[in-house]
Amino acid sequence: MQIESVKAVYPNYENVVSSWRTHLWQIVVEVRTNIGIVGYGYGGGGLASLPIVNGHFRELLVGAELNSPEDVYGIWDRLYYESLPYGRKGIAMMALSGVDLALWDALGKAEGKPVAELIGGVRKDRIEVYATGPDSEWYAELGVSGQKLTHRWNGTTDDAVESAEKAREVMGDEAKVMFDVYMSWDSEMTVRMARDLADFDIYWFEDVLTPDDIRELGELRPKVSPINLAGGEHEFGVAGFREIGEHRAYDIWQPDITWCGGITAGLRICKLAEEYAVPVVPHRGGEVWGLHLIAAGDACDDLAELVMGARGADKDDLWVGGPEIEGGKLSIGDGSGFGVGLNEGML
Ligand SMILES: [Mg+2]
Repeated sequence: MQIESVKAVYPNYENVVSSWRTHLWQIVVEVRTNIGIVGYGYGGGGLASLPIVNGHFRELLVGAELNSPEDVYGIWDRLYYESLPYGRKGIAMMALSGVDLALWDALGKAEGKPVAELIGGVRKDRIEVYATGPDSEWYAELGVSGQKLTHRWNGTTDDAVESAEKAREVMGDEAKVMFDVYMSWDSEMTVRMARDLADFDIYWFEDVLTPDDIRELGELRPKVSPINLAGGEHEFGVAGFREIGEHRAYDIWQPDITWCGGITAGLRICKLAEEYAVPVVPHRGGEVWGLHLIAAGDACDDLAELVMGARGADKDDLWVGGPEIEGGKLSIGDGSGFGVGLNEGML
């Protein structure tokens, strides 16, 4: 088949978390082919990434052949190199992620297979889930494997100790308990936290420093062991992750498949992670885009993140028909492509 049209849209969200996401949150990319197959992808960069997809990328995509994974790799490389002067990282790569995922979705639909089948075959039927948010009781009821707490540095470790104590008590001894601190600690605070949280068997600290501090992260990592340092949601492509690998900055890599360059970049990052013997646990990996990568092959750990927040909170249902937690786990289902439909009312 051939690509006939490409369109990126910013949905009408009603529930978006604050900070940069309010302005630069997820876009939907639609790729139509000459045989009537339509692929949908999810990218980042908000309104700022629309002109990249609807302008430059569209010019390069219309008329391209799309019949095999090799075609997707070839298209990805072309878009990457053509956008290199203004791209490589950030918004352009978030835009490319949306296109890449739409291409994989279209290819899966054309072949009547889940994307995971196209990229190595389904090797994990039921994937372990950890929940991000404060609602330990709800997550324990759902039977998920772990809870990730959020923390912002505020001059004390007391509130972190309190929330870890509660999570450990409610989730049980076997659960994974982690902290995402969104770049708000420094090395000294991280060491102090590791000491004050030593009783709670914390699995990882995430994003303790910024992505520009990889040298310092590499020095810090042994000082907080056995707690792992995790990160990578703000990094892009293989070149970015190679730097992380060279500095041994993280024990666990967390590329976001809708930002780092899509499934194509995700596969290459996973291959690189094998060279460095580092596990990959994609950011928001419980959403179908990351979940298919986790399900396929052995490159990713058996662990998917769902950002769940508190029970009963309002959420936008942009994608419909996706996997639901059963017995604390997620499966990709047997739909073709990514196996989800789009709530057209939000476009
Ligand atoms: Mg995070």
